[in-house]
Amino acid sequence: MATKPLNDTSYGQFLNERKIMGSRCKACRTLALPPRPICNACHSSDLEWVEFKGKAKLCALTSIVVAPPAMAREGFGRDNPYVVGVVELDEGVKAVARIIGVDAKKPETIQVGMPLHADFLSKGEGAEKQTALAFKA
Ligand SMILES: [Zn+2]
Repeated sequence: MATKPLNDTSYGQFLNERKIMGSRCKACRTLALPPRPICNACHSSDLEWVEFKGKAKLCALTSIVVAPPAMAREGFGRDNPYVVGVVELDEGVKAVARIIGVDAKKPETIQVGMPLHADFLSKGEGAEKQTALAFKA
């Protein structure tokens, strides 16, 4: 596991296995999710994988009514919005992800600070399988 290269391909493979793997800088311990090849804080390239448990709280959110093409193909849009948020994981790293289990048509009812847990949105099979990280209320 730890020998996989720190890149988006490996990150996607881990998500397919329902694992949330980010990077930790060996020099300054800064965490990143998704993983980064170079530390954002000290620019070291000596990073390692770290697994996150998937517990988080909601920091900010937006309900999206004008969907990008990939989401529009899944049926999202003006009549079926979806929520994207910034979450802070228990480990202290922030990430952007879909927020599910909330009413995207009534974003005013969604509470900043609410506890969330990770969920995995998969589509496709075999080599085509793609999994996105989401957080569920
Ligand atoms: Zn660093």
